[in-house]
Amino acid sequence: MTEPATLVAYDDAVARYEPVIGLETHVELGTTAKMFCGCPTRFGAEPNSAVCPVCLGLPGSLPVTNVAAIEYTIRIGLALNCGIASWCRFARKNYFYPDMPKDYQISQYDEPLCTDGWLDVSVGDQHVRVGIERVHLEEDTGKSLHVGGATGRIHGADYSLFDYNRAGIPLVEVVTKPVPGTGALAPEVARAYVTELRDVLRTLGVSDVRMEEGSLRCDVNVSIAPAGSSAWGTRTETKNVNSLRSVERAVRFEIQRQAAVLDAGQKVVQETRHLHEDTGTTTSGRSKEEAQDYRYFPEPDLLPVAPSPDWVEELRAALPELPAARRARLQAEWELPDLDMAALRHAGAIDLVEQTVAAGAAPADARKWWLGELLRRANESGVELAALPVTPAQVARVAELVATGALNDKLARQALDGMLAGEGDPDQVVAARSLAVVSDDGELLSAVDAAIAANPDVVAKIRSGKTAAAGVLVGAVMKATRGQADATRARELIMERLG
Ligand SMILES: [Zn+2]
Repeated sequence: MTEPATLVAYDDAVARYEPVIGLETHVELGTTAKMFCGCPTRFGAEPNSAVCPVCLGLPGSLPVTNVAAIEYTIRIGLALNCGIASWCRFARKNYFYPDMPKDYQISQYDEPLCTDGWLDVSVGDQHVRVGIERVHLEEDTGKSLHVGGATGRIHGADYSLFDYNRAGIPLVEVVTKPVPGTGALAPEVARAYVTELRDVLRTLGVSDVRMEEGSLRCDVNVSIAPAGSSAWGTRTETKNVNSLRSVERAVRFEIQRQAAVLDAGQKVVQETRHLHEDTGTTTSGRSKEEAQDYRYFPEPDLLPVAPSPDWVEELRAALPELPAARRARLQAEWELPDLDMAALRHAGAIDLVEQTVAAGAAPADARKWWLGELLRRANESGVELAALPVTPAQVARVAELVATGALNDKLARQALDGMLAGEGDPDQVVAARSLAVVSDDGELLSAVDAAIAANPDVVAKIRSGKTAAAGVLVGAVMKATRGQADATRARELIMERLG
C-alpha cells in the first residue's frame, strides 16, 4: 500500500514517528557556455537552436570541460565548508531515454569535486547544522514534451517533442547528509535549508536560482521511524520540487502518508514520487533505480579535474561575505532583536532596509515602515515587498519628514498612499495633497476650544486630576483637523486652557 485512503494527522504523526529528511538540490550554473561545448545557455531560446555536435552526441565529437563551471562549483563547495578534491574524474552514467541524445549523461559518481561540508539554518530559535555530503557537477538533460493524451506523460501521448537546448548545461547537485532530530519542524527545516542555500548561491553569483524557471529544483527525501527506534525507515524521494512552499509541503505530506502506511502494518516502498502542486500531495512514480542500473564508469573522453591548492585558496580568499555573516553584521549595526531580524528576512526586506538606512533613515524607522504599512500593502496586493512602486530613498524621505515633525504617522501613511498610487516623490505628494502637520496655534486653538466645549465630562475629569483623559480631547482635535494637528502641541494647548 503506497496510497493510504486517509492520512495521519500531522501532529499525531510526528508525536509517534521521527522523520529524517535529506535534500538533493539541482542548480543550473550561470555560465555563458555549456558544460562540455561552447553552446550558449540562455533561457527561452528557440527549441534546438543552442546545440552542436558535442551536446547532440554526434559521432566523432569530443567534450572539453568548461573551466568556469569547475570554478563555480569549487566556490559553492567552499561556501558550504566542504573539502575540495585535489583530483577527481567525471563518470559516464548510462541510460536509454531520449532526453539525452548521447544515451548517457556525463556526471560525477564516486569522485565528487566537493565533499563533507555543512550549512547552518534557523527555524525560529532552533538552529540546525545541515551536513553536506557532496557537491558534484554534471550536465543537464534535454526537455521532452509529450503531446496528446490526458496526463502530459508519455503514456497515451500521440507523439513526443525534444528540445536539446538544455542538454549539456552545467548542473551542480548539492546533496545533504540525512538530517535526523528535527521532529515536528522537519518541513520548516527543509524549507529553511533550501532558502539559505538559494541565498548563498545568489550571493556567489553562480546561478540565477529561479525556482519557477527550473534553475533551482529539489529532490526531497523523507523517511520516518517509530519514535525511539534506533534504525531509520525506508525513504522516498519526491522529485523536481520547484518552490520553497512545495519543499515544505512535500515533507509534511510524506510524513503523514508514511505514518498511515506504517500504522496499517505495511512497509514504505523505496520509490520516487511526484508532487502535485495543486493539492500538495505526492503520488508514486517509478521505483528508484539502483546505482548499478546506470553502469557508471570513468568518462574516457575527459581529462581528470585537478584543481591546484593555490587556485583553491585564491578562490577561498575571494569569496564574498556570505548571507549568514551579512545578516549577523547588519543585525549588530541596526541593533535589532533576533525576532525583528527574522521578520525582516521572512518578508524579504533586508536589502530594502539596508538601502533605506543608506539613504539616511534610522534603522528602527526603516524597519517600522517596511515591516508595517508597506508589508501590509504588499500582502493586500499579493506582491513581493520589493515589487511595490516605492523606493528605499522615498521611504527614507518619509521617515525624515516624520522625524522632523513635518508629518505625523497618519499623514505619512497618506503620503505612502499617494506614492503607491504613482503621484510622485514624498515631497510632491505632500504638496499636492496638502499633507502637513498643523502646529500653528491659531488654527489649533479653535479646534481645542471646540473639543473642550463638546466634552464637559472629560474636562471635569481632567480638572479633578485625571490628566490621562486629555487623550480624548486630543483625539477630538485630530479628528477635527483630519489628522493633521501636531498632537503634542494640541495636548499642551488643552492643558494650558484647563490649567
Ligand atoms: Zn553544444
